[in-house]
Amino acid sequence: MNIAKNVEEYVENIHRDIEKSFDNINYIVDYNQRKVIEAMQECRISERHFSPSTGYGYSDDGRDTLDKLFALVLGGEDALVRPQWASGTHVLSDCLYGILRPGDTMLSVTGTPYDTLKEVIGIAEGQSSSSSSLNDWGIGYRQVELHEDDTIDIEKIKEVLSKDSTIKLILIQRSKGYSWRDSISIGEMQTVISEIRKINPHVVIMVDNCYGEFTELREPCHVGADIAVGSLIKNPGGGLAPTGAYVVGYKDIIEQISYRLTSPGIGREVGSYAASYLPYYQGFFMAPHIVGEALKGAILGAKLFQELGYEVAPLWNAKRTDIIQSIKFEDRDQLISFCQSIQATSPVDGHVVPYPWEMPGYADQVIMAAGTFIQGASIELSADAPIRAPYIAYMQGGLTYSHVKFALTKVLCDFNEKGYVRI
Ligand SMILES: *Cc1c(COP(=O)(O)O)cnc(C)c1O
Repeated sequence: MNIAKNVEEYVENIHRDIEKSFDNINYIVDYNQRKVIEAMQECRISERHFSPSTGYGYSDDGRDTLDKLFALVLGGEDALVRPQWASGTHVLSDCLYGILRPGDTMLSVTGTPYDTLKEVIGIAEGQSSSSSSLNDWGIGYRQVELHEDDTIDIEKIKEVLSKDSTIKLILIQRSKGYSWRDSISIGEMQTVISEIRKINPHVVIMVDNCYGEFTELREPCHVGADIAVGSLIKNPGGGLAPTGAYVVGYKDIIEQISYRLTSPGIGREVGSYAASYLPYYQGFFMAPHIVGEALKGAILGAKLFQELGYEVAPLWNAKRTDIIQSIKFEDRDQLISFCQSIQATSPVDGHVVPYPWEMPGYADQVIMAAGTFIQGASIELSADAPIRAPYIAYMQGGLTYSHVKFALTKVLCDFNEKGYVRI
């Protein structure tokens, strides 16, 4: 692949600089790995749980036990883990529709939510009034911006909560998504949740947990969130789960959501899966380790570009609560070059070149490097960027650290050749 020796050496040197910081990641991986194994033993996982089901899927033990396993590990009373959820947005949407009623208001306390949620809420630019959004159903929406330093504005939340009795649900988005901010750590979440509880013990606190699972020792429900929601083609699928999403949390809320998942009255009792559940169980088992690999790759990416004078978030040695690494490029060309070089080292579709396109659910054009086994899986090494200034690439995932290292080496080789950097 024409990797220049000097670039390879440069990356190797940076790798040696950061290696020490891997100790902390290894500690988290060890802890979470044990937690998953203990929960699997408590659920008495056996080969029969991997068996497929058909038709209605009544008494599908593989499905029901997977629910129990996620609940145990992620700190909820109950969970729904379903291949039938097409994506993270789908489960987030079902949660909101399951919990909110006309006249209720949802309050986002981490500023503007993730791009695809804007259309669910009904605040996307140019959105028609017949898009079946929450807004069309008479459900209100408010948001509290983050402080300048990206922390949650607790005082403002208290003020809004004490004046507006229609607020039924509070959304905390743990990961930054496509925005240039710090992610919300579990520690900060704990403080915010306990402050909210002082004002309103009943408001439903929902955490968009996408990209956050297993990056810390605790999860949102361990610190008082009512429900936490995520995608199985991100962290908790461990790179093996082929599709789907989960929600974990209090039993009564999970039940409400189950009536959106299928239908009122039927809820969680149906839903078959004609393929094996094996990749879900094995993926969940692998997830702590895989998340560790992705975190190490993100640190390498941060340090490499930081050293070359680029703005990165988080900084290479910052505490992390998700697997995303943002890198701010000087222009559109560098951004596209970055994504194309990542694609060029992919095990799948390494021979194709990604270009920006109009992706459903997103306002700007988006370029995605996703040479992944599972289509669009971002626990696998991937990079994506909306094509808008400032030109930020969001890199995440990596099933093996070696792959991320190789990909970043290729990126820098190409940057060097094009004269963007001098190594
Ligand atoms: C990935 C993600 C989602 C859901 O996105 P899907 O592509 O629909 O799975 C929602 N919120 C955040 C913060 C995310 O990272």
